[in-house]
Amino acid sequence: ALMLSLRITPFGERKRQRLVVARDITKIYHLNMIRRDFVANASHELRTPLTVIAGFLESLIDASATPPNHRRPLTLMHNQAERMRLIIEDLLTLSRLEMYEHPEVQESVDVPDELHLILQEAHALSKGRHAFSIDIDEDLLLLGSQPELRSAFSNLIFNAVKHTPDGTEIRIRWSTWSDGPELRVEDNGPGIEPEHLPRLTERFYRIDKARSRESGGTGLGLAIAKHIMNRHDARLLIASEIDRGSTFSCVFPHARAIPRDEAEHTTAP
Ligand code: ADP
Repeated sequence: ALMLSLRITPFGERKRQRLVVARDITKIYHLNMIRRDFVANASHELRTPLTVIAGFLESLIDASATPPNHRRPLTLMHNQAERMRLIIEDLLTLSRLEMYEHPEVQESVDVPDELHLILQEAHALSKGRHAFSIDIDEDLLLLGSQPELRSAFSNLIFNAVKHTPDGTEIRIRWSTWSDGPELRVEDNGPGIEPEHLPRLTERFYRIDKARSRESGGTGLGLAIAKHIMNRHDARLLIASEIDRGSTFSCVFPHARAIPRDEAEHTTAP
């Protein structure tokens, strides 16, 4: 089949004509498919040997015959195996997200509920080093995929914890703005240099690789969040100012908003 990319722009003196530019993207589409399948297969194949390695390391750490001075290097190896497992899981998540354009199952997602759960985990991750403030419209639910939305929102909220210093304030807001329902995660952390902003959602793009690794990041969180937003016809907006902080927003179309009282009277399809 032929894949075409079409661009239609107003044309002519009074802009009443239309200029249609068609580009054959069949090759790009196929190359993209090959890349996606390769990443999915490679990640899948790496999963089993890694599970075996981590399993043996764990039993060696616990074994009474293990010399005490071997425990530390074994634990370090086990931690690295665990890091690799998280990267592989995220790569598999990304290739699954790329498989179809929209979530297979969509339901009315209780976003306030999800946010309360994510916040409990964020508190645990922060260990009291951050101050949280929450402003959630309890009556606003969303049509979408529950596991996907949870994963996107938790990536943004955990990032605000992982990438900002002690004492940072993190503000979470969920309500309808002029553009539609919106989740905002705002921090007054160190902020991000403007030149990084357009590249933050690329796979493995990290401002400070060493620091991100230390914080347990895979470098895939924002790429995953962006994919999930695209699948929900939503936008991921990032604004940041050095020394002032960063704001990550997910802006959904009005059509996805479900008032709570309506959700209670409709049954999922
Ligand atoms: P990671 O696993 O490293 O968190 P992400 O894709 O989630 O990967 O984020 C990419 C990079 O964006 C991070 O490594 C970090 O440098 C930067 N970043 C993300 N969120 C914030 C934030 N709230 N404040 C400052 N930098 C951030």
